[in-house]
Amino acid sequence: MSNFTMQTRLLAALKGEAVDKVPVCSVTQTGIVELMDKVGAAWPEAHSNAELMAKLALSNQELSGLEAVRVPYCLTVLVEAMGCEINMGTKNRQPSVIGNPYPKNLDGAELPNDLLQRGRIPVVLEALKIVKEKGGSSLPVLGGMEGPVTIASDLAGVKSFMKWSIKKPALFEQVLDLATEAAILYANAMVEAGADVISVADPVASPDLMSPAAFKQYLQPRLQKFAASVNALTILHICGNVNSILDYMADCGFEGLSVEEKIGSVKAAKTVVGKRATLIGNISSPFTLLPGPLEQIKSEAKQALEEGIEVLAPGCGIAPITPLKNVKALVEARDEYYA
Ligand SMILES: [Zn+2]
Repeated sequence: MSNFTMQTRLLAALKGEAVDKVPVCSVTQTGIVELMDKVGAAWPEAHSNAELMAKLALSNQELSGLEAVRVPYCLTVLVEAMGCEINMGTKNRQPSVIGNPYPKNLDGAELPNDLLQRGRIPVVLEALKIVKEKGGSSLPVLGGMEGPVTIASDLAGVKSFMKWSIKKPALFEQVLDLATEAAILYANAMVEAGADVISVADPVASPDLMSPAAFKQYLQPRLQKFAASVNALTILHICGNVNSILDYMADCGFEGLSVEEKIGSVKAAKTVVGKRATLIGNISSPFTLLPGPLEQIKSEAKQALEEGIEVLAPGCGIAPITPLKNVKALVEARDEYYA
């Protein structure tokens, strides 16, 4: 018999406390087309409508068995409120940034007084309230958002952001500070609305784009400030092979680190991270969860558990056209592992 609820189990795992079994959930995007059709809550409408956003998130938990609920489904809510232009995508394509407010310099760039009333931020806050109310107290609610580095890159545009990182360090630091400030404000509003955990995806912080030296010098202090300023447990997801920055990530102060299959060995990663953070992942979203087959999903999941993964999860955002049965297989694999 276990005294854990889904919520207490996930929170305990994130704090590094003993649990009866490893939780299984997605700390990255969870919207899939099959569920959108099933419950009548489809993208792109579900990005801008709190009821639909909550309905789709709750349906994923109910029908796949994943042990958390997460909203929203994109990395564009905060940056839109900060002035980025967004393409809302389609039923199977996430929203994306198509216009950046500060490509040349940061003249006039500041934190808007009414930030939390802007764009779709009220929608996300409302969706969190609905999810919290309908999901009940035993369900962990994850507030998802773009991380400070990605926000900064979206404000300047990735080209300028990269250029500033080398040629204009003052501008680079200024945009990072603005992004961090905005991220903290938004994250704490999500906590107030009902998020138990803030799950940050910061793809631009990946070694694919920023050097480990730049991560240590410029990004780590901002991520540390973010984690220290948010009034809830936090998870940091960075895409790609993060082995070259994993040690720095572990010092950022996030309770959980979400990694992709590209890191290779879970065991080796856990040795690097040690007790500093809970290791989350790392079943490939595009190469395993999406195509299956079910046996492959299960064997990789069991392998990750065997190697010491501490929260079993997709390595990155779930591909929207992933079959529901494949997501279910992840949960079944965890259950079979402990049977
Ligand atoms: Zn990712």
